[in-house]
Amino acid sequence: MTHTGFTLWLTGMSGAGKSTISDKIIERLRTAGAKVELLDGDIVRTNLSQGLGFSREDRDTNIRRIGFVSELLSRNGVIVVVAAISPYRETREEVKAKIGNFVEVFVNCPVEVLAARDVKGLYKKALAGEVGNFTGISDPYEPPLHPDVEVRTDRETVDESLDRIWAELRRRGFISQ
Ligand code: ADP
Repeated sequence: MTHTGFTLWLTGMSGAGKSTISDKIIERLRTAGAKVELLDGDIVRTNLSQGLGFSREDRDTNIRRIGFVSELLSRNGVIVVVAAISPYRETREEVKAKIGNFVEVFVNCPVEVLAARDVKGLYKKALAGEVGNFTGISDPYEPPLHPDVEVRTDRETVDESLDRIWAELRRRGFISQ
């Protein structure tokens, strides 16, 4: 498979499915012979953004750093997959404008379903008021108004979501097969 460098940016609330979908799409891209790198918000926060908190300013700094690395990699032909809550629309638009080859995926799932899934046990705590600045509960999440792809993980299987993202990458000419 041939491909250009681009950034596939997955935004959505905690537990929506960003990591799950990222892992699978990366596996599929690597199997096809592509050069791919993952920037996962949780992992970035333990190194590149160590010490940052969850204020708007710190969240924006984190996203700008991820955007900066994504640009360096994608302009060198690498496919970058970003899995980060990235709650602020304006900041996502800013990194999108800087990077250029950018596909925004809105990983959407209703908060009731997220609270029921409670993958990391954080929704229960956030709803009980034990976690401050929790996106979607005690902190804002601004959904994309015009995402390139919107996946509804409460209604589709992971493979269905994956196929729709893949189709968009092909449609845009970023991947050849
Ligand atoms: P995030 O990275 O957005 O915090 P995770 O990928 O860690 O979310 O968790 C999402 C959870 O939802 C996983 O347990 C996953 O198995 C489940 N899930 C159910 N349906 C889907 C789907 N269509 N896409 C992605 N995840 C799904």
